Amino acid sequence: MSHYPIFADLNRRAVLLVGAGHIAERKAESLLAAGAQVRVAAEKLSPRFEEWQRQQRIIWLGKTFQTAFLDDVFLAVAATDDHELNRQVFQAAEARGKFCNTVDNLDLCSFIVPAVIDRSPIKIAVSSGGTSPVLARQWRQAIETLVPLHTGKMAAIAGAWRTRVKQAIGSTAERRRFWENLFAGRFSTFAAQGDQAAAEAELQAQLNHWQPNRGEVVLVGAGPGDAGLLTLHALQAIQAADVVLYDALVSDEIMAMVRKDADKISVGKRAGAHHVQQEATNRLLVEYANEGKRVVRLKGGDPFVFGRGGEEAQVLAEAGIPYRIVPGVTAALGATAYAGIPLTHRDSAQSALFITGHCRRNGEEPDWRTLALSNQTLVVYMGTLKAADITAKLIEHGRSADTPVAVVSNGTLPNQSVQTGRLKDLPAMAAQAERPALMVIGEVVTLRGSLRWYGDRELPTQPEQAA
Ligand code: SAH
Repeated sequence: MSHYPIFADLNRRAVLLVGAGHIAERKAESLLAAGAQVRVAAEKLSPRFEEWQRQQRIIWLGKTFQTAFLDDVFLAVAATDDHELNRQVFQAAEARGKFCNTVDNLDLCSFIVPAVIDRSPIKIAVSSGGTSPVLARQWRQAIETLVPLHTGKMAAIAGAWRTRVKQAIGSTAERRRFWENLFAGRFSTFAAQGDQAAAEAELQAQLNHWQPNRGEVVLVGAGPGDAGLLTLHALQAIQAADVVLYDALVSDEIMAMVRKDADKISVGKRAGAHHVQQEATNRLLVEYANEGKRVVRLKGGDPFVFGRGGEEAQVLAEAGIPYRIVPGVTAALGATAYAGIPLTHRDSAQSALFITGHCRRNGEEPDWRTLALSNQTLVVYMGTLKAADITAKLIEHGRSADTPVAVVSNGTLPNQSVQTGRLKDLPAMAAQAERPALMVIGEVVTLRGSLRWYGDRELPTQPEQAA
């Protein structure tokens, strides 16, 4: 079970506090600060409670707790040192469907109070769900040092101007950009100096000169799967995006890092399953950018390696839309590194070639003689369905049937698996490979024997005759 976090509006709402000693004082303080009407049931009032009573900030209902006290309160807090009494209060509250917090007893709580970093009106709450208050407190301290003291002032001014800014800037995305620019600039300095007039003048000036932005598109390479392989540019882009159009190949772990309220649109296609056609994707990129949005086109690996990023960039260039390219770790680099296969090696491979399994264009054959040369590593993307054909052609054009090969599935992911064998086995290996899979052909594959560092699975290879 995990707690559901809420911030409750207690202003002018009645709260029952049972107990009026030292611990109850702390509870009363925060309840009073939230504007609650605190009603107290307690044997005896501490001097502080007496003072509050004189100031008419609390009401003393009586010496003994009665269940009827719960009738018209919003929630209850049991803060006595009498365990049995606390239990009675909790059970009575449960029976009436009222929230109840009992000091120092998680079993007797239907709500708990988090550790708070208070930059009112900004509040950050930290809770361990009652498992470790010490850990929650440590995090609170760490966050305390991160959140500038003037954050609250900035929020208060923003709150006062919100309606005016809304009237001046119609689009939500544009408005967000306005606030982000404002908070990143001199406004923040003035707020930190406590100069509210200057901060508001700055806000007014920026609002007067606000220019609606043209949107932009960032073609971002997400890498082969492991989120740790994202570049800093990629991370910044996906955290600033209004809209993210992503491929099926982008891992869940990476999608979890996208800004929470961005629109996420799957344009994923895997061999055979074309969810949204390329033309439709191109159209969406242009449309969203023309609406002024920050669009991220998030692609597996690198956008310019067998990713149609080139075509998308051409469409954007033709439409006059500003765009940027963020390269990513392509599968050939990521999957081989994690499989312990160096793409080149002084002894056995002086070059590496990346090809796609769909290498025939308009029925034209690729240059198989070049592809079959020895002393090079051949990496085949999207090739598992064409493995038999590729194998036959390579052997026919001179590559030895005993050339070491590997098929790397789910490269760089926790479920990475690798099969190694000989070129003649490749069709059988490809047939049983999970996708996405990359085929690697060349002597360097044998280095995996000594360079296997990642905790992946080595799958058994089918016997030769299966090919
Ligand atoms: N732009 C991508 C490639 C897209 S083509 C890049 O630069 O990596 C899709 C092919 O890439 C898949 O068919 C597969 O061959 C390969 N691929 C992508 N991610 C992979 C991964 N994690 N493991 C193995 N192969 C992968």
